[in-house]
Amino acid sequence: MLKLQRELEKFNLDHLVAYNAPLAPLTTFRVGGPADALARPRSAQEVADLVRWSRHREVPLTILGGGANVVISDRGIRGLVIHTGGLQGLNRSGTLLTVGAGTPISDASAYAADHDMEGLSFIYAMPGSTGGAIWMNARCYDGEIAPVLEETRYVNLGEPELGSIGVYRTDLKDFDYKVSPFQDGRRIIVEATFRLTPGDRTELYRQMKEHEEDRRRKGHFLAPCAGSVFKNNRAFGAPSGQIIDRVGLRGTRIGGARVSDRHGNIIINTGNATAREIRDLAETVQNKVEQHTGFTLEPEILFLGEW
Ligand SMILES: Cc1cc2nc3c(=O)[nH]c(=O)nc-3n(C[C@H](O)[C@H](O)[C@H](O)COP(=O)(O)OP(=O)(O)OC[C@H]3O[C@@H](n4cnc5c(N)ncnc54)[C@H](O)[C@@H]3O)c2cc1C
Repeated sequence: MLKLQRELEKFNLDHLVAYNAPLAPLTTFRVGGPADALARPRSAQEVADLVRWSRHREVPLTILGGGANVVISDRGIRGLVIHTGGLQGLNRSGTLLTVGAGTPISDASAYAADHDMEGLSFIYAMPGSTGGAIWMNARCYDGEIAPVLEETRYVNLGEPELGSIGVYRTDLKDFDYKVSPFQDGRRIIVEATFRLTPGDRTELYRQMKEHEEDRRRKGHFLAPCAGSVFKNNRAFGAPSGQIIDRVGLRGTRIGGARVSDRHGNIIINTGNATAREIRDLAETVQNKVEQHTGFTLEPEILFLGEW
């Protein structure tokens, strides 16, 4: 760790970085150990500098957005974690809305409604950053990110363009259910532009409040969690939550981790869960569903760090 610190100091990147930095508070599950080094760049250029630095020194690099879809291991993450929270921004030109990757996607939705622009109301009150929503092609309430995404600016992680800034123009063929072209790990999203349409703010806020209320009813905000644990699969004939319910797994617990009483596809941290307990519970649910139904549920949440 000291070596890492000295190297970062030499390259004048030290001011962006904290060492042995706790990550649990940066996730919605509120679990996980520290990052060796945690950087919070404020611009695409700072992201590029950190990327070049980490690649040339072979320091492992992990990207963390709003931490709403991840479980970070109790031992934490080795190397450098880039947290996108410093990449903030909301600007509009006509019905084009440009948003910093670290801006909460729900803030982008509210900003769009405030300016009478329609297209992002479906995602209001969903936790996470704009970069994370694009990476996951997040979806809810009959909406999905890809169809409103015009273009995405990113920093290249791969050779030969390492550290250069590029623009990806959305091609819907590259996206699918919970799939985006950014999942190949070759780019860090720094900013995105959404193509919206004129709308009426009163009507948009009505829809947004309805979604927020529905999430509240489903208990989304009652305990730390990361939303759905498993993806849905049409071939299984029912949403994953219903399949888990039918197998009788609601309320199952391991230590401080419990399958929510309100929704079979959500695991909650009841207060003192470890990352290991959450992972073990997810695997138990997966195994029991497989034994009872023959279906293998595919995890939607991501397990990051040293397990
Ligand atoms: C209560 C609750 C309800 C939820 N409901 C929904 C829902 O209805 N629909 C839905 O789709 N999801 C839902 N989720 C899951 C979560 O909100 C989404 O997956 C969200 O898009 C994750 O964004 P994030 O910024 O938190 O990403 P993170 O969890 O921080 O990261 C997820 C992945 O994206 C990568 N990543 C993040 N930012 C960047 C970037 N700028 N560049 C490159 N890679 C990046 C990370 O490396 C990681 O691999 C819910 C979560 C919670 C807690």
